[in-house]
Amino acid sequence: MTNQQEAEFPVADRLEQLRAGLDAVERRIDAACAAVGRPRSEVTLVVVTKTYPASDTRLLSSLGVREVAENRDQDAAPKAADCADLPLIWHFVGQLQTNKVRSVVRYAHHIHSVDRPRLVTALSEAVLKAERPELGCLVQVAFDLGGGQGRAGVAPEDVPVLADLIADTPGLRLDGVMTVAPLTGPLAGDPAAAFTRLAEISTGVRAAHPAATMVSAGMSGDLEQAIAAGATHVRVGTAVLGARSPLG
Ligand SMILES: *Cc1c(COP(=O)(O)O)cnc(C)c1O
Repeated sequence: MTNQQEAEFPVADRLEQLRAGLDAVERRIDAACAAVGRPRSEVTLVVVTKTYPASDTRLLSSLGVREVAENRDQDAAPKAADCADLPLIWHFVGQLQTNKVRSVVRYAHHIHSVDRPRLVTALSEAVLKAERPELGCLVQVAFDLGGGQGRAGVAPEDVPVLADLIADTPGLRLDGVMTVAPLTGPLAGDPAAAFTRLAEISTGVRAAHPAATMVSAGMSGDLEQAIAAGATHVRVGTAVLGARSPLG
């Protein structure tokens, strides 16, 4: 899949595609900030490079992208190794199995998907063993629990306990909260409402942990609603890199 994507686009064309995608997303972020009177500097674009080759991450870096996200360690670890010479900040945004933690702490700066005490313990042990700097952790909030199982994230009422646990755990730093707009449940189809609830949850978390300022919300389809609700980090893939293959 990735080889095909590389073969289809000569580097110069791919660079121009990525430049155009980035420009379009930057314009959307500018407009969304302006619409609600937020300074552009309050919002960080995190480009989600999942399923795309390391060569794209390299081109994005040459275009000034500094923050990238991946959702599977199997893909992210080799990509991060390949791009180790670049000044990139790596965000991990996918569901994380404890058996992948040892690998993820080698390259990740922020984990957006912390959703259970067992994962907190595993991350802490791996960070301490790796003798690396503190790892930033965000609590992933799920607004559609109850319906499907296996959904990533904790229920809103469980956020404070998990946030306190992260803040009290050696090697970890509580950075904030994250969500993906729900596809089921009462807030399905209403990302603005979900993002507003996330902002309220963030306010509660910051009352106890003032440094936990990150609010990670908004993707290609709903970044405007996220910025309107107060997101500090938008995670954008498709709108920058193009549609992913269904396998991604
Ligand atoms: C893939 C992904 C994104 C980016 O989604 P797009 O719709 O391609 O912008 C954002 N957040 C998470 C958690 C993802 O898995």
